[in-house]
Amino acid sequence: LWITVEGGDGSGKTTQSALLMAWLSTLDRTVLHTREPGGSEVGELIRNIVLHHRGHIAPRAEALLYAADRAHHVATVVRPALERGDIVLQDRYLDSSVAYQGAGRVLDATEVRALSMWATEGALPDVTVLLDIDPVAARERLDAADKPFDRLEAEKLEFHTRVREAYLALAAAEPERFVVIDAQQPVEEIAQQIRARIESALTA
Ligand code: C5P
Ligand code: MG
Repeated sequence: LWITVEGGDGSGKTTQSALLMAWLSTLDRTVLHTREPGGSEVGELIRNIVLHHRGHIAPRAEALLYAADRAHHVATVVRPALERGDIVLQDRYLDSSVAYQGAGRVLDATEVRALSMWATEGALPDVTVLLDIDPVAARERLDAADKPFDRLEAEKLEFHTRVREAYLALAAAEPERFVVIDAQQPVEEIAQQIRARIESALTA
């Protein structure tokens, strides 16, 4: 079972992913928690490039760096784990690229998706949890937690609004894969809704 967690900055991915991981760890299964960008030794190097030079990388170059990270991660980490029968819980995957490099950086969404599909030989998760939040509320939440909205260079609000809309369009296009969750609910409520979806996937 391959689960990905998606959502804008400040949507609570880190919190919910950790709670889901804690619950999955109580099952009698091997679970791998991984992430993009990053998730492999090469991937962490690419993560450093894309995060430290955010806003200063030509959009197509940025899209290729994310795709390169993804190609290596799927080939060397995710696919082997799935072939062993492990559960893979992954923070961000190709939907992030369609939303951020596509809608955010205004590249063609179809092309960005095709690039990731080529990079991964078409690997798609079984379940994608989308934590949906209004970017204004997300910003308030990060401000309250004294965390930067973006770690280095804050993108404009319109950027995050485009990202959110792209995510919702992706979810609408693939309702079987996606579960969309209102990320403004209480933490435990959200965790419960995620567990319910994963439980049904595990017994399917
Ligand atoms: O999920 P995490 O907080 O680790 O993501 C790091 C940053 O990388 C996020 O702020 C996100 O805006 C950015 N990102 C991106 N394009 C992706 C994935 C992440 O711009 N495909
Ligand atoms: Mg985060």
